[in-house]
Amino acid sequence: MRMILVGPPGAGKGTQAARLVGSYRIPHISTGDMLRAAVKAGTELGKQADGFMKRGALVPDELVIAMVLERIQQDDAKGGFMLDGFPRTTPQAQALDVAMTKAGITLDSVVLIEVPDELIEERIIHRRSDPETGAIYHLEFNPPTDEAVAARLVQRKDDTAEACRARLSKYHAETAPIVPFYEQKGLLRRVDGQGTPDEVEVRIKAALA
Ligand code: ADP
Ligand code: ADP
Repeated sequence: MRMILVGPPGAGKGTQAARLVGSYRIPHISTGDMLRAAVKAGTELGKQADGFMKRGALVPDELVIAMVLERIQQDDAKGGFMLDGFPRTTPQAQALDVAMTKAGITLDSVVLIEVPDELIEERIIHRRSDPETGAIYHLEFNPPTDEAVAARLVQRKDDTAEACRARLSKYHAETAPIVPFYEQKGLLRRVDGQGTPDEVEVRIKAALA
């Protein structure tokens, strides 16, 4: 299966991807995770991406497109993949389309996780992650039960109220326009992202079935 998870920041894409990849046995390709790893490793890409990410702006298309097209050609992605956080702009969607056509492969579905704007900030500012496992938590909605995990949780630099508002406005301006692109191809599945993570997971699996 080749699929894409789309949704505003904090919609639950990463949370759901972690649950779904086990069931579908495909790699979870998160451009946010890849870019954060590049920043941490201090690579050329990381140095270029850092400033954009900190202020909640998008990293330039050419950098992200090159990174993803290389990643989906790797062996573990030959049989399928789950893209999380890409494409985020119309040029990214078009570049993916061209590359997949060239490679003779097709997309199966694009799942849009819908969450109203009013709920986003609360999800983002209390998001935390476990640096050892990458697991995503929420201080209120999904706190860790293990005290050792709770003690080592970290917050992303861009999970401030200010950067969150910048990302949400980017989402509406740059990312929402890719929705009709996939709708016209008959690939779009809309899923309500409110309710518990379990409820959302059931909805996504039903939409993919
Ligand atoms: P995204 O990858 O779309 O930015 P995340 O999966 O990181 O979103 O989720 C953002 C925050 O919201 C995290 O703190 C996560 O624990 C929490 N979260 C995810 N799904 C839900 C849900 N269904 N209800 C409440 N909080 C959720
Ligand atoms: P969120 O979980 O809030 O949806 P991500 O972890 O997917 O955020 O992305 C974090 C940041 O990484 C974005 O705000 C942006 O700066 C950069 N980024 C991730 N994916 C892309 C992309 N496809 N195009 C441009 N920038 C991206």
